Amino acid sequence: MVADPILRLSQLSKRFGQFEAVKEIDLAIQEGEFFTIVGPSGSGKTTLIRMLAGLEEPSGGEILLRGERINETPANRRPTCMVFQSLALFPHRSVGQNIEFPLKMRGVPPAERKNRADELLRLLRLPEDYYKKQVSQCSGGERQRIALARALAFDPEILFFDEPLSAIDYRLRKTLEKELKDLHRETGKTFVYITHSLEEAMVMSDRIGIMRMGELVQVGAPDEIYSRPANRFVSEFMGEVNVLEVQPNGAGLHCPVLGSTLQGPDAKADFASGYLVIRPEYLRFIGPGETAENTVTGVLYNEYALGSRIQYQVRVGEQVFLVEKLREQRYGGNLDDEVIIGWEARDSVLATE
Ligand code: ATP
Repeated sequence: MVADPILRLSQLSKRFGQFEAVKEIDLAIQEGEFFTIVGPSGSGKTTLIRMLAGLEEPSGGEILLRGERINETPANRRPTCMVFQSLALFPHRSVGQNIEFPLKMRGVPPAERKNRADELLRLLRLPEDYYKKQVSQCSGGERQRIALARALAFDPEILFFDEPLSAIDYRLRKTLEKELKDLHRETGKTFVYITHSLEEAMVMSDRIGIMRMGELVQVGAPDEIYSRPANRFVSEFMGEVNVLEVQPNGAGLHCPVLGSTLQGPDAKADFASGYLVIRPEYLRFIGPGETAENTVTGVLYNEYALGSRIQYQVRVGEQVFLVEKLREQRYGGNLDDEVIIGWEARDSVLATE
């Protein structure tokens, strides 16, 4: 028998007046998973996670914790804890007082609280003498760790994260993303995280759910979402991709903007029109004597250095293609060269609107 998921959402909805912020979401989150909900601003992520944490009451549907309905259970009676973007720390209290706060609220005696705080300082790799340090004297990265220590203080089963890294500069954010993933491993707890950055979600998550206008449009492992986006929205949300409008024409996929027939992955029988999506790293420059299943001729318009990779802009009439190569595979010619670029059918994805 398969165990109940730790969280199951069934037709979960939230209306504000006439406006439906979350629309009939069905989802199962497994124990110990790092599950991230990603979506653009206003897609309903915060509303969804607030319902899961007990900070917002659903208008319809159910939230089940290991099979038990918890719709009406108040936040402080759920075995969950939320880490907010603002962190909500007490700046003029010590690190120790901040970490111990949830334990104090639960009537845990001082000596036991101190032991737990010391344990959490070690887990979050904060120096032991920070116990007495005032939070206002700690750096941004340290405050993140203090907020995490406080969230873990009473040993919740599920941690919810509401964009905790979004206000942090790029380099520190990259470090903290990895630390958070390490912390997930070390604690084995269920993490449910929201962010508008798919890149951030990809680094940390076991599975990702993509939201758009209150709906969950795709759920899958990062690799799955990356290589098989369900629709155009998901593929474009993942960053820079080449998207071509196509219709099947018997011989393959007719692409009006290129005026040619392309070979794509096998289309479903009911596929009448849609988009062929090709990631920039799957495109290559086709030299003399080389071939690819799909080729187009264009002009090399510009190139951009992206650290270890180089991105090229190739213009084919109205259509702009992005081609990405590792530095060692860089194109040898010059801007304004006529170039042939190509890709294999299996490296493209067919998506609907
Ligand atoms: P962001 O990334 O900007 O935080 P989000 O994906 O978290 O966005 P939500 O904050 O969940 O989105 O908001 C979803 C929609 O619901 C928005 O259109 C928002 O204006 C609306 N909304 C959220 N809370 C309320 C409320 N209390 N009353 C009315 N409308 C609300």
